[in-house]
Parts: sequence; structure tokens; C-alpha cells
Amino acid sequence: MTNRDSAKVTIEPPNHFGGPIGAFALTLFIPVISLYLWLCMHRRGGGLWIPHSIVDLADVPLPTWRAAGLFAAWLGLQLLLHLFGPGKRELGIPLRDGVRLPYRLNGWFAFLTSTALLLALFATRMLDPWTIVNELGGLLMIAIIASYVLGVWLYVHGIVEGKKERRSGNFAYDFFMGTGLNPRIGGFDLKFFFESHIGMGSWGALVVTILAAQYMRDGAVSLPMALVSGFELVYIADFFWFESALLSTWDIMHENFGYMLGQAFLLWMPFNFSLQSQYLLTHTPQLSPLAVFGLCVLNFGGYFIFRATNLQKHRFRTDPGSLIWGKPATFIETKRGTLLLTAGFWGIARHMNYLGDLMMALAWCLTCGFGHIAPFFYFIYFAPLLVNRERRDNATCSAKYGADWDAYCKRVPWRMLPFVY
Ligand code: NDP
Repeated sequence: MTNRDSAKVTIEPPNHFGGPIGAFALTLFIPVISLYLWLCMHRRGGGLWIPHSIVDLADVPLPTWRAAGLFAAWLGLQLLLHLFGPGKRELGIPLRDGVRLPYRLNGWFAFLTSTALLLALFATRMLDPWTIVNELGGLLMIAIIASYVLGVWLYVHGIVEGKKERRSGNFAYDFFMGTGLNPRIGGFDLKFFFESHIGMGSWGALVVTILAAQYMRDGAVSLPMALVSGFELVYIADFFWFESALLSTWDIMHENFGYMLGQAFLLWMPFNFSLQSQYLLTHTPQLSPLAVFGLCVLNFGGYFIFRATNLQKHRFRTDPGSLIWGKPATFIETKRGTLLLTAGFWGIARHMNYLGDLMMALAWCLTCGFGHIAPFFYFIYFAPLLVNRERRDNATCSAKYGADWDAYCKRVPWRMLPFVY
């Protein structure tokens, strides 16, 4: 790094995720967790995979050329759809330096086109969904390799680009957290592309593929599979429909793009978020009509809270005069000039969007019944992740807004769930 570059970089202490040691451990262990879950699901039917001898290690999948081909074809398709598909251009929310970056929004088009293409390939038998399902282990290994390659590229790119960025100066920590906020090649924003088209898009593609695989094998789709696929596809379609709301999220505005987010989009989201579907391919828990009703209430109640909360903030931030629940929005004006909403769900708790997300996560896991632990992984990891994220966000906002944030917390004392947390 040159003297000129280091003068531009804001050095921040490596305070999150257990500092450099925690970041290093997570860099090594996140892929191991994903691999372990695959082993539980595909070698132990959803139970825990406990190796008894070295022979059991033969269960670990290897990368294959076929998986590499499928992975490259999918990545290439998403890149083409994003770069050349029709869509609108929108400016992001002002960043810390006041800059508003332009974004190309065509995730909805890409999602519909990719889903239609997959279904057409399956229906015409040009591609068997079981080819993909049987290659999931190989695909996972390819995604692990790709996530490390991306992490290295992002680390180097952030350093050599020499923009004003936030870093700790510690290699292990900066590799994990990233060295740049919005790495771009020309107008192509890598973080946005990987989060939207690859993270959410690949998860959706796997849900559709597994659904099709069950239908092709059994000539029907089981009730739990239909429920989980429906719940998750509504969530994914909603993401793409409201894709512009991604621009005001923590990931886009505050989180550097490094190994942590890169692996989340390439590996964690597609493979671990689809665990319920993977499980239901070989299990059919019995669900009473009352259970189905309860699951729908939990999922769609959570969806309503999640969506309404995110939209309230997004609309308020883009137009502070907009009405919330039929009334002009109330807010606190901070010394920095930013407005903190105190109306609607933002007046009930400080992160009701996280609560809604967790309710949906629980509904998806419960649909798998209580036979095995692995399909519950999504909720087991997601609850502490969102609690941690809320605390990180709280610390960031407290440092940023000072007394104004204290006033907001006094006015809205609950973090996620009124009277509980
Ligand atoms: P938020 O969308 O809640 O964004 C937090 C930011 O909003 C704060 O940093 C602050 O930024 C601003 N803010 C905080 N309070 C207020 C207020 N009262 N009024 C206006 N602005 C406020 O969080 P995330 O970006 O973490 O989450 C977005 C969605 O993504 C959530 O629904 C979450 O559940 C979901 N999510 C899903 C994950 C998954 O793996 N499925 C992972 C993480 C999130 P500033 O003031 O600087 O603008």
C-alpha cells in the first residue's frame, strides 16, 4: 500500500466476530459447517454424521467436472441476464461520503427467466433435475473453492484500487470482512450482483430443482414439500420484486465485500437455505390440517411484519413525507441530518424486520417435523446471527448518531420483540 493510499483508509479496530482470531477461524470453519450439513443430510438422512473410522471420510464429496460445468453455466447465465437483461437504473442511498452509486436492477427479470428456463429444460427432458440433485455435493465443493478465489480477488482488489475505505490493517480480519465497500468493475457492482443474482437466485433455483426432482420421481409433490417450496419461493420472489429495497440494507450500505459475504452468497445461502427442501426429498412428515394452518399463519404473519417493516423504512428514506398507517410519519432528526423513523413498526421495536424473518425461518423448519435436527439448522443459526447483527447495528448507529440514537432507543426501547427482547 502506498503512503497516499494509507492516508485515505480509515483504520477501525477489528472488533467483530471475535477479532482476527475469530475471523480466521470462521474463514476456515464456515465451509466445514456447510460440508458437515451436506453429510448429515445426504449420508445420514438428516441425522448427525459422526465418523467412526477413517473409512467414513470417503463420504466427503469431491468436486467433479460435471459440477464445475453446471456451476460455470449458471454463473455465466446470471451474468448475461444481469448485464444485458432489461431493467431499470436506480441510485443507491447516499453513502458515508455522500456518494450515491448507480445500480442496475433486473433481478425480477433474471429470476423469472432462469426459473422458466429451468422448468422448460426439465419438462423437455433436456436436463434431468436429478443430475443437479445428485451433483449437490460436487457443486458444494466447487462453491467452496470459488468462495476462496473470490475472497482473494476481493482482498487484492480493495487494496490496489486505493479508494477511501474502512479496514483494520489486520490481514486475517480484512480478508474475512473485506477491504472495499462496493467493489466494481466499471459500472458492474460485484456485491449487488452476488447478493441478488447468485445468493438469492441460486437458492431459488435449487428449491425449484428439488421440487421438480420429487415430482419427476413420484409423479406428485408431498404436502410438506409444497408448503416449504411455496413459503421459500414467495420470500425469494418478494426479494426480487422489491429488489431496490436491498439498496438501503446494512449489507449494501455498511458491510465491506470480503470472504464473509462472498461465501454467504456463493455457498451458505444456496446450499444451507435449501436444506428443508433437500430433507423433504426423502422424508414426508405427517401434518394435520391444524398444523398446516398454524404454519401458514406463522409464515405469512412473519412475512407481513418483515415486508411492511422494510418497506416503511425504504419509503420513508426515499420520501420522508410518505404516510405510515395512514398518518404522517413521526421521526427524530439527527445532528447528522439523517431522519430516524419512530412510526409504524419502527415505533414498536428497533428491528421488527428481524422478528418477521425469524418467524418465517421457524415455519420453514417446523414444516420438516421433529424427526431430525439438520433441517432445523436454518433457524438455529439464523436466530443468533440476527441477534448479533442487531447488536452490531446498534453499536454502529450509537457511534454514528450519539445522543440522537440514545433518544431513539429511549423512545423505542425494545430491540426486536416488544416486552421480551
Ligand atoms: P435494516 O434494514 O434494519 O437496516 C439497518 C439500518 O437502518 C441502520 O444501520 C440504520 O442505517 C437504519 N435505521 C435504523 N433504525 C432506523 C430508523 N428508526 N429509521 C430509519 N432508518 C433506521 O437491517 P438489515 O440491512 O440488516 O436487514 C434488512 C433485511 O434483510 C431484514 O429484513 C433482515 O431480516 C434481512 N436479512 C436477512 C438475512 C438472511 O440471511 N436471510 C441476513 C441479514 C438480514 P442508517 O441510519 O445509516 O441509514
